[in-house]
Amino acid sequence: MNLPASQSVAQLPYSGLRLKRTSPIRDQADWDDICRTHPDAKVIPVWQGKSLISGWNGGEEDASIDQPLTMKTVETSSVADAELVLLGVDDESPMLAADLSHWSQADANALTQDARFVDLRKVGAALDTQEAALLSYARGMVHWHQTHRHCGRCGAATLNERGGMLRRCPETSCSGQAFPRIDPAVIVLVVDDSLHPDGVPRCLLGRAAGWPKGVYSTLAGFVEPGETLEETVAREVREESGIGIRDVRYQASQPWPFPSSLMIGFHATARTLDIARHDQELEDARWFSARDLRDAGTWGEDKTLCLPRQDSIARYLVERWLEQQA
Ligand SMILES: [Zn+2]
Repeated sequence: MNLPASQSVAQLPYSGLRLKRTSPIRDQADWDDICRTHPDAKVIPVWQGKSLISGWNGGEEDASIDQPLTMKTVETSSVADAELVLLGVDDESPMLAADLSHWSQADANALTQDARFVDLRKVGAALDTQEAALLSYARGMVHWHQTHRHCGRCGAATLNERGGMLRRCPETSCSGQAFPRIDPAVIVLVVDDSLHPDGVPRCLLGRAAGWPKGVYSTLAGFVEPGETLEETVAREVREESGIGIRDVRYQASQPWPFPSSLMIGFHATARTLDIARHDQELEDARWFSARDLRDAGTWGEDKTLCLPRQDSIARYLVERWLEQQA
């Protein structure tokens, strides 16, 4: 991503969606019928977490892209048995998401001739930013519905209301309500502020087992009840690297619907340099100079050091720091 250094509010992949989320349709008891019979309604199908994309000729592990990638929508008549979510309105026309996860793979593949279901993580960086943001939103909403089909209090099957922005328990003795949820997570690039003996600034990156060869990324973790964001940053850095920090500085945030996170990104300054991992989340953590990182490859390349995914806030945090280095 290429962002001007002076830009104070970053526009990261999967964000910046220009869609009117509010609509009077949500307040109608028959919102589902209104949407299904609307002549201009568009449906974004989601099948087992995957998005419908044209132009993708790769297999599950193959990232081959030989023409522009675009998201595909379908008509409501083709998803008659699917639960809908009203994402918003585009010029007063409903933009919907439909969960087709109960369909067989053959049925899902037969939905259109010229598109297939692909994991958004494989194609997000190659999509138009609005399409990537829309698919991200659809994926996140469908995942939330899938995981809230039953009331968390009494176990009764819940009802899909307010255009998919509420799941309500029908038991009058319970009246449980659930609203779409996200999981806040912090992600941080720790810099050493020239503490190293040679005076060369370095930043702290870690590597988890199972990542592609050579990939090191920023440290991250979920916010726990009772914590501020700054406290989470300090705890995660301490647990994953043993490093003490100060000056936690907000940089940007990013919706990350894999499956339901909001990534809240920071830079922080190290107080100590000695790395000692206290949990098993990472298999390695190291200090890297700007020179190390400028010579690095990117996620998936066959190099000894690779940067985080192009579409991630981790990458943005690293690139922002690199811009600040002479
Ligand atoms: Zn209930």
